Amino acid sequence: MRHNICNQKNEFDLIVAGGGIAGAMAAIAAGREGLSVLLIEEQGFLGGSLTSCGTGPMMTFHAGNRQVIRGLPDELIQRLKEKELSVGHIPDSTGYTYTVTPFDSEGMKRELELMAAEAKVTILYHAVIIDATVSQAESKIKSVKIFSCGNIYEFFSDYFIDATGDADLAYVSGAEYIQGRINDNKDQPMTLNFKLYNVDINKIRKLMENNVNLFPFLAQREKGLEKTAVRLSCSGFVDLMKQGRKNGEFNFDRDIVLFFETNTEAEVIVNMTRVLGENPVDVFSLSRAEIEGRRQMWELFYFLKKYIPGFENSQLVQSGPNIGIRSSRRIIGEYTLTADDIISARKFPDMISLCGYPIDIHSPDGTDTDHRFLAEGAYYGIPYRCLQSSSIKNLLAAGRNISCEFEAHASLRVSPSAGAIGQAAGTAASLAFFNKIDYSQVDIIELRRLLTQNNACVD
Ligand SMILES: Cc1cc2nc3c(=O)[nH]c(=O)nc-3n(C[C@H](O)[C@H](O)[C@H](O)COP(=O)(O)OP(=O)(O)OC[C@H]3O[C@@H](n4cnc5c(N)ncnc54)[C@H](O)[C@@H]3O)c2cc1C
Repeated sequence: MRHNICNQKNEFDLIVAGGGIAGAMAAIAAGREGLSVLLIEEQGFLGGSLTSCGTGPMMTFHAGNRQVIRGLPDELIQRLKEKELSVGHIPDSTGYTYTVTPFDSEGMKRELELMAAEAKVTILYHAVIIDATVSQAESKIKSVKIFSCGNIYEFFSDYFIDATGDADLAYVSGAEYIQGRINDNKDQPMTLNFKLYNVDINKIRKLMENNVNLFPFLAQREKGLEKTAVRLSCSGFVDLMKQGRKNGEFNFDRDIVLFFETNTEAEVIVNMTRVLGENPVDVFSLSRAEIEGRRQMWELFYFLKKYIPGFENSQLVQSGPNIGIRSSRRIIGEYTLTADDIISARKFPDMISLCGYPIDIHSPDGTDTDHRFLAEGAYYGIPYRCLQSSSIKNLLAAGRNISCEFEAHASLRVSPSAGAIGQAAGTAASLAFFNKIDYSQVDIIELRRLLTQNNACVD
C-alpha cells in the first residue's frame, strides 16, 4: 500500500481519534485553548452515534431540577435552539429520567463543524485509524496511521485522545483494555434505531393520559408529563408487544415499545431492535448484526403500524444508518468507576464531570433491561483518573470508552455525559501541552478551575 503525506502538515499539538460527541467536544475545547488539533473521523461528518446511528434524544443534562451538564454540550444545544434545530431540555415523558433533549441530526452535524472551525480544528473525514507507533521505552504513542482511499497517512503528536467509542486507538497502541461483562465479556446488545415520520402524536398523548398504567415509568412520575413535554417520549405498550410476539409479528427478544419524537414534529426515533450475541468489534459479527438489525426493523415497522395507535400512517424515513453500539472496549485507566460509585452518588476530589443518569443495562442475554436508579435528584462524579490510560502515558480516553465497570458504563455512556467527558479531556490536554508535562502531572485544581471557567459542572 502506498504511503502518502500529500505535503500536508503532519504534526499537531493534539490528535483526537473519533469525532463523536466526546471527540468533537475534546477537539473544540483544546482548539479554543490554542492548540493545533487534528480530529480524525471515519465517517464524513461529526456526531458519532448521535448522527450516524440515529440515537437520541440526548439524555439527560439533569439530576432532579439541577442541570449537572453544562459547558460545551450545553452550548451546542443552545446554538441549535437559536436556529430552531433543538427544542432544548424538556421533561422526559417516558418517566425514565428527568429531561430529554431532542435535536435535528443534520443541524447537529453542521453546528459541530462550525464550532470546530471556530476553534481552528483540522478535521480529517473518511480517515480510519489503523495503527500507531509506540515507544515502548517511554510508554508513549509517537504517531497514528490512518487509511483513506487506498492510502496510508501518518500523523505525529505528543498528546492523544481516544474518543472512538470502541477504544480503537488504545487497542492498536497496545494499551490495556477490557470488553463487556466481567464474567463472560459479553456486551450489551446492539440496536439499529430507525426514524418514522407521520406519527399521530396527539393520539398517543391522549392514550397515555387516559391509560397511564400501560406506561410503567410514567405511572410513577407526577401526572401530566405527557402533556407538558413539547416533544413526546414514550415507553410502554407491554401487552401489545406480548401479543405481537405471540402472533408472530416479530421474532426477537424485546418487551416494550420505546420511541422519542425528534425536533421535527411527528417524526420519531424508534429504539426497539435488539441484536444479541454479536461482537461489535469483530467485522464478521458486526456485519451479521447490521443485517439482523435491518430484518428486525422491517418486522417492527409493520408491527407498529398494525398494533400501536398513532402509527397507522407512519412512513419509514431511515435506519441508523449504522447499527448502534452500546458497549465494547473500555480502557483500563488509573481508576475504574464502579456501579457502587454510581448508585451511592460518589464524588471524587478529581472529578471532571457529573452525571445523573441511571444504570440502564439492556441484557446481553434476552429481553430484560436491568434498571438501577440513583436516589431522586442524586448524581455522581467522574474522576479524571478514569480518562488516563494506565499503560500509555500520553493517551486519554473520552466518552463511552473510559475506564469503568460494565455496569457503570451503562450509565455514563449517554451522550451528554460523553460530551462533558470530552470537554474535560480536551482541557486536560491543553494543560499538559502548555506545561510540557504528562497527563498524570496535570494539576487537578487547575483543570477543574478551567472547566468551571468554561461553564462545565464539576461539583
Ligand atoms: C441504540 C442506542 C441508543 C442510544 N440512545 C441514546 C439516547 O437516547 N440518548 C443518549 O443520550 N444516548 C443514547 N445512546 C448512547 C450514546 O449515543 C453514545 O453512547 C454516545 O453518543 C457516545 O459518544 P462517544 O463520542 O463516546 O462515541 P461515539 O458516538 O461512538 O463516537 C465515536 C466516533 O469515533 C469514530 N471512530 C470509531 N473508530 C474509529 C477509527 N478507527 N478511526 C476513525 N474514527 C473512528 C466513529 O465513527 C464515531 O464517530 C444510545 C446508544 C445506542 C447504541
